[in-house]
Amino acid sequence: TYIVTDNCIACKYTDCVEVCPVDCFYEGENMLVIHPDECIDCGVCEPECPAEAIKPDTESGLDDWLVLNTKFASLW
Ligand code: SF4
Repeated sequence: TYIVTDNCIACKYTDCVEVCPVDCFYEGENMLVIHPDECIDCGVCEPECPAEAIKPDTESGLDDWLVLNTKFASLW
């Protein structure tokens, strides 16, 4: 899955939402999040993010962000 990280905070772009084929972006407290169970790992959103906030969860050190994405996406 892909996850949204700190660069998204207070970002006003929604390019990622527009390109996601499965609509798995949701609103978190002050940023967007990706629902990890709905993301199909297509990778389309990553280069579209002007803030470079979207990263694959295979990158190290992102565990806390994965938890946060899951938490806020699950509220919807
Ligand atoms: Fe949506 Fe693909 Fe990005 Fe996952 S990787 S959030 S499915 S655009």
